Amino acid sequence: MSVLNGIAASPGIAIGRVFLLDSQDRAIPKKTIKESAIPREITRFQDALTTTRAEILGIRDKISQEIGQEHADIFNAHLMVLEDRAIIEEVMERIKKEKLTSEYIFSQVLKKYSESFMKINDEYLRERISDINDVGRRVIKNLLGEQRAPLSDLKDKVVIVAYDLSPSDTAVMHRKNVIGFATDIGGRTSHTAIMAKSLEIPAVVGLESATRQIQDGDTVVVDGSQGVVVVNPTPAELTKYRQEQTRYQEVSKGLKKFRDLACITTDGRRIELAANIELPEETISVLSHGADGIGLYRTEFLYMNRPDLPSEEEQYQAYKGVVTEMAPKPVIIRTFDLGGDKFLSHLEMPHEMNPFLGWRAIRFCLASPEIFKIQLRAILRASAHGKLRLMYPMISGVGELREANKLLQQAKNELSARKIRFDENTEVGAMIEIPSAALTCDILAPEVDFFSIGTNDLIQYSIAVDRINEKIAYLYEPAHPAVLRLLKTVVETGHANNIWVGICGEMAGDPALTPVLLGLGLDEISTSPVMIPEIKKIIRSMSHEEAQQVTQYVMTLRTGEEVVNFLKMKYQQIARDSQSKK
Ligand code: PEP
Ligand code: MG
Repeated sequence: MSVLNGIAASPGIAIGRVFLLDSQDRAIPKKTIKESAIPREITRFQDALTTTRAEILGIRDKISQEIGQEHADIFNAHLMVLEDRAIIEEVMERIKKEKLTSEYIFSQVLKKYSESFMKINDEYLRERISDINDVGRRVIKNLLGEQRAPLSDLKDKVVIVAYDLSPSDTAVMHRKNVIGFATDIGGRTSHTAIMAKSLEIPAVVGLESATRQIQDGDTVVVDGSQGVVVVNPTPAELTKYRQEQTRYQEVSKGLKKFRDLACITTDGRRIELAANIELPEETISVLSHGADGIGLYRTEFLYMNRPDLPSEEEQYQAYKGVVTEMAPKPVIIRTFDLGGDKFLSHLEMPHEMNPFLGWRAIRFCLASPEIFKIQLRAILRASAHGKLRLMYPMISGVGELREANKLLQQAKNELSARKIRFDENTEVGAMIEIPSAALTCDILAPEVDFFSIGTNDLIQYSIAVDRINEKIAYLYEPAHPAVLRLLKTVVETGHANNIWVGICGEMAGDPALTPVLLGLGLDEISTSPVMIPEIKKIIRSMSHEEAQQVTQYVMTLRTGEEVVNFLKMKYQQIARDSQSKK
């Protein structure tokens, strides 16, 4: 038995026999052609492009009908590769010049493109390599006259192990005999991982050497929740994973029914249950888990892993995409929060002794108003396409908030001068994640339309416990009375000032804490998409009054531990009650 560690790409557990996909690129012989055969070779190449285009359009329509438009849109990227003039012209030129077959030249040109993309320090571009390779394989298959993709042949249920899997390979797995997959390369944001997640096929990517360490026919466990692949497990391990698999399947099955249900308590209080995202692609998962909107879009990821800053247009396209896909549901775009543990390579932020207390988020933005205004304009432009809300991170006092709003007004004026449309009434919020903001939220409230409590930081600053230091992790207590008191203050003050209050830190995704968040009167809860069904289940299983009683009681307790113990007991009771109601 051996255990391989990778990136958890799609949760769940698959146990089965391995189908090892050939990891080698198809060998294409270097064959010369006669001068007189050049026109025919070019026509052959153009015909293959046309056939491939028709195939991709066919897959796109099928996927669109079967699993939805949002998945089908992935194939637009493939069509773009097929229509790329630079690639097509280079192939035709080289066929004429080098007198070699079109499949050989085409494979060489694509290889050159993927190699140069590989060198660019941009995760997004690197992940587009699989789009290029996928299209390339199809075109070459058509040039060589092959008819069948290997995956459509599968007779038995298998776990695919491959160097990489293209989105179209993954799409073919749909309703085929593929129960899981493991790949050597790939990141969390690859289309393949996204597709796997929404098809709910357990997957682990980025295993580096899976194709070398696993043999065709081996038995493997793919634990897509933990990012682990167990090769030829012992009988004891197998039993353990089978039990875990049954448990996971039962829980997921039970939770599915909550997707389309309203997030409402038994006595009719409605909570906006939203999702947090880092990348635009995640909207698919947000929608499939039944979120009411996006409560936190961490835009700083658009600024990372690249040598330059994203332009207004690039940001606008990204935000517009998310807002349009989610419409009419609301999307809260948080202006970028760099610094702390998230750094920009090219802006050379100074090395700081205490980066979490340093030049971060809104502090950086207010010091670089031109960079900040590019983002503000992009966000405002996207507001014309759906229901968009904007919020600022790391507000420590009203001075910063007013300054940010001043820049927002300037951004609006600049757009008006350019005659560009935006929603004048875009709601603006402040994240409450610094104790000074929580304690002065009565002063902040008149300046904004909502608060969103960022407990990840609020906890680290109020308990003075570095959120990424494992040595003091025991002190990082979301249920600490100090944290609960701050939450209570912010919610009550927000409401007294007629603004709504949400929460978007990780504690919002802990089902045991849900009754307290409900009882505190939060209007919106935003968490990772996969947690949404379970949180919704808890909210739907209790009354607001009951939640208020729970909250009143835990507010009298003296330690976080006492609170957690009580809430765990309560959680088990809720689970038991909902079980007995079935
Ligand atoms: C938070 O601090 O709770 C939050 C949501 O922001 P981030 O985790 O991005 O700092
Ligand atoms: Mg934060």
